[in-house]
Amino acid sequence: MSMVWPCPLTVDAYASMGRAVRVPRPECPSCLVPVVFWSGYWRHVRGQERERKIFIPRVRCRACGVSHAMLPAFVLVRRLDAAEPVGAVIGRVAGGACGVRRAAAAAGVPYTTARGWVRRFTARAGELAVSFSALAAELGGEVVRPRPDPLRSAVAAIGAAFTAAAGLPGWAALGRWRFACAVTGGSLLAASASSPFLMIGRRRFMPPGSR
Ligand SMILES: [Zn+2]
Repeated sequence: MSMVWPCPLTVDAYASMGRAVRVPRPECPSCLVPVVFWSGYWRHVRGQERERKIFIPRVRCRACGVSHAMLPAFVLVRRLDAAEPVGAVIGRVAGGACGVRRAAAAAGVPYTTARGWVRRFTARAGELAVSFSALAAELGGEVVRPRPDPLRSAVAAIGAAFTAAAGLPGWAALGRWRFACAVTGGSLLAASASSPFLMIGRRRFMPPGSR
């Protein structure tokens, strides 16, 4: 299992720190007791057209024995690319500024890669629109009216939720795609129909500055 923490560092800054990145210590989502740090692993992430190797610490709950990977908010589960380039492509396409081909060129990624992101995001856009609209309302933000285009609806809802969250300490610096990544547990593009949005209902997402 994994948890996403609201990391404000750039990919390069995070990578350069190696194992020395200070990660906030969360509570076990099941037992609500503080976990302990428990090894970790290395993985790759591609941000700003460059691939970097980063360390992902693991935490373990002494009470139930379950361990969690602590993913920084720029990492998407089972994806090489960081949240920002993925979000930039999706945002441009949803905004109608251009098609996937030009959005891919602007982000410096292959067309087929960008097309895959847009397809995956669109496949779960309806669910994302509903969840982020609910979160925006819960945070006291604007009520997002559903639009016929699910992709636009989802991006608008993420924007509204982020705008509402940006009034709370810490979130504004992260930007809307890291915010979206943190709220969905890194599964913004995940095909699985399991419900990462338990994080919203139970307020399981970790606010910045809670370390
Ligand atoms: Zn536990």
